[in-house]
Amino acid sequence: MILFHDQLTKRENAQVDIEDRGYQFGDGIYEVIRVYNGKAFRLQDHLDRFQRSADEISLQLPYNLERLSQLLQELVQTNQLADGTVYLQTSRGVAPRSHPFPEESHSVIVAYTVEAERPLNHLQNGIRTMTQPDIRWLRCDIKSLNLLGAVLAKQKAKEHGCQESILHRDETVTEGSSTNVFLAKDGQLFTHPANNLILHGITRQVVLELAADMGIPVKEEAFTLQDLHRADEVFITSTTMEITPVIEIDGTPVGDSTPGNLVRRLQAAFEHQI
Ligand code: PMP
Repeated sequence: MILFHDQLTKRENAQVDIEDRGYQFGDGIYEVIRVYNGKAFRLQDHLDRFQRSADEISLQLPYNLERLSQLLQELVQTNQLADGTVYLQTSRGVAPRSHPFPEESHSVIVAYTVEAERPLNHLQNGIRTMTQPDIRWLRCDIKSLNLLGAVLAKQKAKEHGCQESILHRDETVTEGSSTNVFLAKDGQLFTHPANNLILHGITRQVVLELAADMGIPVKEEAFTLQDLHRADEVFITSTTMEITPVIEIDGTPVGDSTPGNLVRRLQAAFEHQI
């Protein structure tokens, strides 16, 4: 089953109109939520971010977060999803194609579940990455459906045998194409501040909390490509990739090319939470 508007229904009952603004303009927002053992991890944080994204683009959600939360949990239960993800999106709705907001339109909510195992191989062994210029817009804090910048960056990574692209504006590292980026240097963690240039990742937030609990100092400060290449450890975070060590950047090993001590400790603490 899937969620369409406010009903759980069969997938074939949900139709996307050819004049849906999400389809034509990318005029909408989304979330990806991880489900562990049948329970949606950090659901409220995702819903709060969903509301914030909606507010930032003046998109009126058709019902409140409490109702949405209930419906999503019903969806997970109905589909008997043990381990996987929930994809949730809303578009500004259907209207004759014209850039300004339509006078009258009703946002369209869709959600569905996907079974997925944890990416154990990458969590264990780390991933290869490459750096690329961040060509995205200046409101990366909004989780918008416009993902062409991310799509192009991820495709290039794939073509180079890498699992992620680390993006930079001039010399400043912002984030990954679908992840946040951390580095460790001399026992301290660094990650880009949660401003308009990055998505305020939920997993990033979890790592900040875990680091605080564990007494690991963190600076939410932007760092450069040079800092990245000189780091003791680098890792990326996201809902689906969790806390994944980076063992190579642009063909150069990070540290001794195996996951470092800090990332291992954070991964262990994260496992405890899920
Ligand atoms: N940055 C970008 C650009 C992303 O697309 C994502 C994942 N959607 C993240 C960071 C990680 O966010 P989260 O931890 O909430 O999944």
